Amino acid sequence: MPFIDVILPLALEKRYTYSVTEDQYANLKRGMRIAVPFKKDKLYTALVDRMHHEAPLAYEARDIDQVLDDIPVVGELHLEFWEWISQYYMCTVGEVMRAAVPGALLLESETVILGREEVEIDETLLTDAEFQIREALLHRQSLKVKDVVNLLERKRVLPVLHTLMHKGAIELKETLAEKYRPKWVKYVRIHPEYTADTALQTVLEGLNRAPKQKELLLHYFQNREPDSPWIAQSKLIKSSGIASSILNALVDKGIFECKKIREDRVQWGESNGDIPSVELNAVQAEALADIHKYGETGKVSLLQGVTASGKTEIYIKLIEEQIQQGKQVLYLVPEIALTAQLIRRLQKHFGAYISVYHSRYSQNERVEVWNNVLREQTSASIVLGTRSALFLPFRKLGMIIVDEEHDPSYKQMDPAPRYHGRDAAIVLATSAGAQVVLGSATPSVTSYHNTRIGKYGHTFIPTRYSDVQMPDIQIVDLRQEHRKKTLLGHFSKALFEAIEGTLEQKEQVIIFQNRRGYSPIVECMSCGHIPQCMNCDVSLTYHQYRNELRCHYCGYHENLEAGCSACGNQTINTKGLGTEQVETELAEFFPDAKTRRMDYDTTRGKHAYSNLIKAFEAGEIDILVGTQMVTKGLDFRHVNLVGIMNADTLLNFPDYRSHERSFQMLTQVAGRAGRTLKQGQVIIQTYQPAHPVISQVLDGNYEAMYERQIREREQFRYPPVYRIIKIVFKHKDYQKLREGSAWFSRALRLQFKDRVLGPESPLIGRLRNQYIQQILIKIPPGASVAQTKNSIKRTERSFNAVSQFRSIRVIYHADHI
Ligand code: ADP
Ligand code: ZN
Repeated sequence: MPFIDVILPLALEKRYTYSVTEDQYANLKRGMRIAVPFKKDKLYTALVDRMHHEAPLAYEARDIDQVLDDIPVVGELHLEFWEWISQYYMCTVGEVMRAAVPGALLLESETVILGREEVEIDETLLTDAEFQIREALLHRQSLKVKDVVNLLERKRVLPVLHTLMHKGAIELKETLAEKYRPKWVKYVRIHPEYTADTALQTVLEGLNRAPKQKELLLHYFQNREPDSPWIAQSKLIKSSGIASSILNALVDKGIFECKKIREDRVQWGESNGDIPSVELNAVQAEALADIHKYGETGKVSLLQGVTASGKTEIYIKLIEEQIQQGKQVLYLVPEIALTAQLIRRLQKHFGAYISVYHSRYSQNERVEVWNNVLREQTSASIVLGTRSALFLPFRKLGMIIVDEEHDPSYKQMDPAPRYHGRDAAIVLATSAGAQVVLGSATPSVTSYHNTRIGKYGHTFIPTRYSDVQMPDIQIVDLRQEHRKKTLLGHFSKALFEAIEGTLEQKEQVIIFQNRRGYSPIVECMSCGHIPQCMNCDVSLTYHQYRNELRCHYCGYHENLEAGCSACGNQTINTKGLGTEQVETELAEFFPDAKTRRMDYDTTRGKHAYSNLIKAFEAGEIDILVGTQMVTKGLDFRHVNLVGIMNADTLLNFPDYRSHERSFQMLTQVAGRAGRTLKQGQVIIQTYQPAHPVISQVLDGNYEAMYERQIREREQFRYPPVYRIIKIVFKHKDYQKLREGSAWFSRALRLQFKDRVLGPESPLIGRLRNQYIQQILIKIPPGASVAQTKNSIKRTERSFNAVSQFRSIRVIYHADHI
């Protein structure tokens, strides 16, 4: 009898075997989806992994429910990749599957379906079953898949749901805390009928008695871009100063036509398929040649180029070459916010070839991109996305670009698979025979180290594109400022005057402080009491605008009372500096300037982030205060001053990577200054002006940073010299957690001796009422990482066999980098 082993999207340690008919067997292939019953009578979508004729010994194989595909939705390349991720990052393949495949392709009994009344559907084209489901959803808000089974009085319902989803009539309920809502922009153009000169002449004459309409039409011709007839309606109205009712009149007459376009998506269509070419300068051309050379030998290339050196233009050239060879390209960025910025730039070159993919896209959109990649559609030749885009079913992958490769956001923290997007990209590309280009102005110590040992190729652009100078950096010693009492609030004299001067020149200022809220600590001066979170071991941050104390980890908050909650004295004082306080001080010192703040608190609304960026680009803001959000890859034209309030919180953070990260963050934020002809100015305030990282930033000396870091890491046995596996334990009972983690550590020590550190409390020992302990295992160069992981897994199995430990959560970070 024929059988299949399947992967279920669950955290199961092994595969399950089902029986299939001879007929099904003949048509099935590895990577196709099937619906299977699991546990009692739950239905899941699973994936065929292996086909064979060996009945399972331990249980009787159940029949599958039905076959869902006629071609595999996941190819061999990715099935192998899933397997690697699960081994390397120490999780189950089922967990990888959950992360990899859009939920809409993995319907199960508990999936919740919603109707989309707003979508118009020609009901005559629906089958009876489809119509019945749509009807039911008009009366009920939602249905579970298992309800549909009852409704239709039949078992096999997934295909009907797939076609309904495809027709746009239903969608899946998403559990995302904050649903991503794309913004729509209205565009207008002249009706193609009137583009011929003679026709246009007639129209204009016809408008002689409507002078405003005529004026608007002429204005349209003067202001539209040469390469596209479409112009944003708001832009047309704003620049012409003519009321929108006039525009509507032209639309009513059929002279103008409108369409709505999603801002975060590619605008198809207008380009005729020709790709405008990039002209690289000599340095860029050399870098390109280096990358070609490394590509031929199958090496990963690290493209290191200072901020604004033109790395993106080189990527564009590389993509162009791949597209001409009919290959697919994946362009990875560390954060969703960066896709919105880059897409505008890429679409100029690759309008009809590019798609965007990330986890905030709706299920329907994700499935659409998934299918386009699978079917090798032109529109998905290039995918711009975050790390989850690695799982798209590429079949002709030619290149992966990993932009801002140093960014810690490439690491997935929760849930499993806890993988690193950059490292996984290299593994995937290697098995696909594709080239990898890593790019950054401030590469990670790990990647740079790989170039030093000859594993990666390296190419370097030391200057900005064209004649733009690197910014001038000045260090201010806060100790002296204190001593001489020259501080104004938290601003040194130098920074204060620089802001004044910049504002006078009508140029913009960015002020960076990596803490949000008003001040991170509140303290009673009488008894020393510091209010703490009820659920986490952290002190509460004071937020002035709501007069609240808030926990930045779990969201707990309480009102700030006038008296101390411990001793009752009215002697409460705030300590430390957050962005809110910086903003308050700036508003006081520079009342005529428009100051705005960009941090987690001000960017939570739907469009808050992009609105802030746009307002800043348009010059509606003079001073932008922000957290690390302002450091990331933003390209502003009129910023001439960047001020860093206090470099010390970064430098003193207790983590082996804190100096590397401080260097990267300070250099990146400094890189926002003076990106056009005038030289920018950067002022860094610090209590440690002699700190080595400060002078490395001052000199733009990446090498010095690297040399020092690598020596320290050799000495103290940190990555990339040693590897570290971090094991995190969580439980709400502290005693039990201590016992369990100590047990685990003892068992590991029997095998790995003094390479095992801990258990100990991490920096924050309790989060959301869960206590935390961690163990680090350091693996020396040359020792087998795979064997170490096997031993750890074996230890975990014994651990789970101890009944009182079973409820302790064990989490692996397989590369603590
Ligand atoms: P990076 O990605 O290294 O920060 P960018 O690619 O954004 O640098 O380049 C900085 C600026 O210089 C951009 O405005 C870009 O359009 C311009 N630029 C870079 N290279 C070229 C080129 N070869 N031709 C025209 N403009 C270029
Ligand atoms: Zn908390």
